[in-house]
Amino acid sequence: MKKETEKKLHALDPRFRTRFKELMSMMDESISLLYEVAIHDEKTGLYNNKFFETILDMEIEKAKRGKQKLSLFIIDIDFFKKINDTYGHIKADDLLAGLAKVLQKQIRKSDISARFGGEEFMVLLPETDIEKAKKLAKRLKRAIHLDKILKKYNLTVSGGITQFKEKDTKKKLKQRVDKALYKAKKSGRDKFVIIE
Ligand code: GH3
Ligand code: MG
Ligand code: MG
Repeated sequence: MKKETEKKLHALDPRFRTRFKELMSMMDESISLLYEVAIHDEKTGLYNNKFFETILDMEIEKAKRGKQKLSLFIIDIDFFKKINDTYGHIKADDLLAGLAKVLQKQIRKSDISARFGGEEFMVLLPETDIEKAKKLAKRLKRAIHLDKILKKYNLTVSGGITQFKEKDTKKKLKQRVDKALYKAKKSGRDKFVIIE
């Protein structure tokens, strides 16, 4: 609370002052809650695309200034339409959330994972070079294969990996990672393709 406000409050009846402080704290909580809702995707609990784009802009600026490494992942569930058609949308939604959980377990707290579109996810890895990103892809693929529920439904993913290059733009970076994903799909799925 601002010092000015504190001073004014001090002049008030103590009962009113307490009630006012309670209301202020409730407002703070509501704002925090609204913020959480605004930046997350409700189906998976991951960040939403809008928030992801904001962080991506910030991290690109940091990578440019500080010359730190920055890697980017895109992940797309294989044949998800078929999973929907076979098991129904409710089950497919569960699997979407299940995959998000596996994904979150594999990444660091400082990494940003978001639901990019329907069955597509983006993962931003600040201060991470392509070698470390490759290792994460390997770990993630293994975790998906080993997960009890995902395994039961034969859920696999394809992914693209790239890293930020000097003179890159956000558009170029995203186009490159998308191209890597396209290659992974074209060459048989259930794999990650890297374009450095
Ligand atoms: P590919 O391996 O080429 O990616 O095949 P695909 O079937 O996954 O790709 P396609 O783009 O043909 O279809 C994506 C499907 O994902 C279609 C849509 O029904 C499903 N999908 C997208 N968002 C959701 C969602 O929120 N819930 C569910 N249950 N399904 C979704
Ligand atoms: Mg897709
Ligand atoms: Mg798909």
